[in-house]
Amino acid sequence: MNSPWATTAANFLADPNKQLFIDGKWVPSATGERIETFNPSTGQLLATLARGQKADVDAAVASSRRAFQGHWSSFTPAQRQQLIMQFAELFEKNFEELTLLESLDMGAPLMTRLRPAKNTALQTILYYAAQARNIGGETVSNSLPGKVTSMTLKAPVGVVGGIIPWNGPLFSQMHILGPVLATGCTAVIKPSEEASLAILRTAELLVEAGLPPGVVNVVTGFGSEAGAALAAHPDVNRVAFTGSTGTGREIIKASAGNMKRLQLELGGKSPDIVFADADLDKAVPGVAMGVFSNSGQICFAGTRIFVERKIQAEFVERLGAYSRTLKVGDPLAPDTNLGPLISRRQLDRVLSYLDIGRQEGGELVAGGRRLGGDLAGGYYLEPTIFSNVSNTMTIAREEIFGPVASVIPFDTVEDALALANATEYGLASGVWTTNIDTALKLAHGIEAGTVWVNCYGLVDPAVGFGGYKESGYGWKGGQAQIDGYLYQKAVYINVG
Ligand code: ADP
Repeated sequence: MNSPWATTAANFLADPNKQLFIDGKWVPSATGERIETFNPSTGQLLATLARGQKADVDAAVASSRRAFQGHWSSFTPAQRQQLIMQFAELFEKNFEELTLLESLDMGAPLMTRLRPAKNTALQTILYYAAQARNIGGETVSNSLPGKVTSMTLKAPVGVVGGIIPWNGPLFSQMHILGPVLATGCTAVIKPSEEASLAILRTAELLVEAGLPPGVVNVVTGFGSEAGAALAAHPDVNRVAFTGSTGTGREIIKASAGNMKRLQLELGGKSPDIVFADADLDKAVPGVAMGVFSNSGQICFAGTRIFVERKIQAEFVERLGAYSRTLKVGDPLAPDTNLGPLISRRQLDRVLSYLDIGRQEGGELVAGGRRLGGDLAGGYYLEPTIFSNVSNTMTIAREEIFGPVASVIPFDTVEDALALANATEYGLASGVWTTNIDTALKLAHGIEAGTVWVNCYGLVDPAVGFGGYKESGYGWKGGQAQIDGYLYQKAVYINVG
């Protein structure tokens, strides 16, 4: 923590004026109330946040509406592109501070997870800079009588509500800021009450990059207050939400009032399928990190590990051995692989799933304990593996959001496919095989928004990401996402 940016981060945390960010300024909430936010690696108070509520959301939305109709609407695509690039430069310059705030706030390992993702974050935002120059309708041939020229025009939808989860806010926000700025929309961001700090600091950087005040506002607060007010707001045109399926349902209901456009990235119980012909030297670490990365707090975590029965014993042994090499500990220590869970509530929830797993007959082959000693103040859990699980057990059906893997044996390709698809979720999946026929059969057959073959967790903004079934809808990335931030209009010109 002895560096200039560590001092900047400490000053940011200690500054009582950093409350809501509205109209390019720090302002207190209407009630002046605060929320406490804790460091999950120690359980100690980290900072207090403004408790934004309906009145604050109203003020932020009004500011974003004014910005949408004001100076911002005259920015050309080239100017918006330039602005995103300036922001990317500032993001890079302040990356150490931003990632330190994020690590303190939500517990992800600084040196093995957050810092190595610098290029991914930059490439993501720069992708949207390129998209700013790629927005437009088409001239379309029609079959109408007479001479009629027809074309489509595109226009930004307006004010976007961005509701962000706690499991990776610094990077998650890029998929909202990017399309908002590329298309000329404006946004009110509601970060999670558990991890708001890096988002607040980013808002300052956006204004420093030259963004007109009000184009991006940030309202901190509880989901049931600030989040619900934003989701229901009659002057918000679109909501981009990443979070649990239950909250996604609430947002769908709240959107009905003014028929907001929605993009929902929700829960998952993703299958990761290992065939006997797989290269296990790659599959073992790939599968392990597919489920244990970020201590399992990733929506696309590959938590249902289907293993061809004839290699189950060997695979489970190697997976267990690999999991024991992962260092669980202080997120700021250079060699930490897995940090704490986000909160006491989350730890208790995950521990209760471990009890259920044991009661329902899962065989605990690795982990299963909360860590004590020096780590007793934080919310640390060992990477945990249950073997001989059946697809119908609770731990194989419900999203746990912790470092808990269920290994389930299968016999044939058809078996694997049927088991993989027997879930209400459909976010992502993995397949490990050296047989191209098997890989293709599963790539076509799996009902999920992503199929990773001989890899896990790769996401490129040009390709995009989204869900099947109850994992949500609306594509994140690619042209489809940009289209979601635009209204389309048909124009017919009768030329006589
Ligand atoms: P978790 O329970 O893991 O925190 P949530 O889906 O509840 O996941 O939270 C994701 C984001 O949604 C957070 O920013 C949270 O504050 C917000 N949120 C929670 N409830 C609501 C709601 N009813 N309406 C809008 N946003 C909400």
